[in-house]
Amino acid sequence: MLRTGEEYRESIRDGRAVYINGEQVKDVPSHPMFKPLVDIRARIYDMAHDPETRESMTYTDEDGEASAIGLKLPYTRQDWDDKRAATDLVFEDVGGVVTRVGDETVGEMWSLYDGQDVLNEVDPQFSANIRNHIARVIKQDPFHVSANTDPKGDRSKAPQDQDPDMLLHVVKETDEGIVVRGAKYETAAAYANQAFTKPTIANWGNDALSDYAVGFICDLGSPGIKIICRTGFAGRAPIEDYPLANRFDEVDSLVVFDNVLIPWENVLFYRHTRAATFIRATLHRYSAFAFVQRNLKLADMLIGAALFNVRQTGLDKQQAVQEKLARLACYRESINAHLSAAIAMAEKSPGELLMPNQSLLYTGRVLACTQLPDMMHIARELCGGQICVTPDYASFQHPESGKWLQKFYSINEDWVAEDRRKLLAFARDLLNSDYAGHRLTFQLFAQSPPFAHLATVYRSFDWDGPLDFVQKAAGLSPRVRGNSGAQAQAEKKRA
Ligand SMILES: Cc1cc2nc3c(=O)[nH]c(=O)nc-3n(C[C@H](O)[C@H](O)[C@H](O)COP(=O)(O)OP(=O)(O)OC[C@H]3O[C@@H](n4cnc5c(N)ncnc54)[C@H](O)[C@@H]3O)c2cc1C
Repeated sequence: MLRTGEEYRESIRDGRAVYINGEQVKDVPSHPMFKPLVDIRARIYDMAHDPETRESMTYTDEDGEASAIGLKLPYTRQDWDDKRAATDLVFEDVGGVVTRVGDETVGEMWSLYDGQDVLNEVDPQFSANIRNHIARVIKQDPFHVSANTDPKGDRSKAPQDQDPDMLLHVVKETDEGIVVRGAKYETAAAYANQAFTKPTIANWGNDALSDYAVGFICDLGSPGIKIICRTGFAGRAPIEDYPLANRFDEVDSLVVFDNVLIPWENVLFYRHTRAATFIRATLHRYSAFAFVQRNLKLADMLIGAALFNVRQTGLDKQQAVQEKLARLACYRESINAHLSAAIAMAEKSPGELLMPNQSLLYTGRVLACTQLPDMMHIARELCGGQICVTPDYASFQHPESGKWLQKFYSINEDWVAEDRRKLLAFARDLLNSDYAGHRLTFQLFAQSPPFAHLATVYRSFDWDGPLDFVQKAAGLSPRVRGNSGAQAQAEKKRA
């Protein structure tokens, strides 16, 4: 059933162990560092009930019940268009970009749903669990996040040759379930309900079975879970000076599993490295769409901040300035084109779902993430040095300093000092602040690191087209395709 914002807030008052800034948090929803994001997540729940927004945020499921559009299994292009529109509506409503709020992570489970044949082959007891969890997400509307990355320790050593907890692993089996130890990095864990937890290991060597090959749904309020958060940005400095950091910080954490019991019904795969390899190779098949959509909105923010600034100061008449704006527009529209084409040329998945065209989606993710630092730099340049030298809000309010700031920050009758100050504060928090740097790192890493993005492109691009063309154009003999063809087939089979 669709939850309300208040029901969500209550659901995370479950006695969970959350630590931040050297304190144990008594009440997550009201803690100043979590409250802004909890409020946004609660608003997203409420948008599903709000008469103004509910039509875009929900659909009627096969039992005639309203459910969240972001959690719907995608079967048609319309499903994708609806998901895209609902996410955009959230950004418009909250006035910024939030990523790890559920719709961007739930798709990881659909990838495993596609892998039921693999799961059945290796161990049939678990394939029913993924179906049940997908149905449960639709029916119970939990806030679902993603757990992949372990602290890992010394990468030159095997896990068993160092502290074995550096990678999450199973330490015991009981009648109730498995007991796991280790730790994972997870954004939003402190205020989410559950996390799809799985390994990032890409190379299992010749091991068919491993205690480290385990994937499960973890209830974040389980006994033995300790959620240790990095410090938050909210409340560090006035909201007038840091409007984004104070409202949109998605707090990341190290989630420690200190002998946590995972009930059997929550175990999605266990011991078989083949199942773990499958989920690694297909993990972002769906969820990359929602992730890349965030880059599009970020691009709009870069363009808006830069364009307002150059219009304010009359610089938009300069051709060189227009060229820089055009580069930002190219970036924005390239992401838009990848997203739109990925749906227009969507592909049927092995589980009969509709997945975005994989090659277009993954190349779009590489484009969006790798060019972001350059685009932020162009926007920074267009905003000029004033974004980092402007005095703070309090100085604008002070009777003596405020007079001078009114004078020097008023540009004309349309752009008075307060609007110029607001724009510069917004641009600083988007491009220059501690929070801005954090968001850039988030876009680079949160959906796996850049080398893994490229590895996914390598696996999804159809290399045969260029090979066929060059083979014919250069008049090469069929023999030249022998090895590479076999290698490509093997790669495809593995993926
Ligand atoms: C803001 C933020 C939020 C995050 N949120 C989440 C989350 O919600 N859930 C989650 O599971 N994870 C999350 N992560 C973790 C993220 O997925 C990892 O940071 C990422 O997988 C890289 O792992 P690492 O940090 O251990 O880097 P390392 O493994 O130490 O790698 C560092 C660098 O070494 C190089 N490198 C390492 N291995 C290879 C290789 N095999 N081939 C080529 N180059 C290599 C690359 O340049 C790589 O970027 C988040 C990270 C950030 C920064």
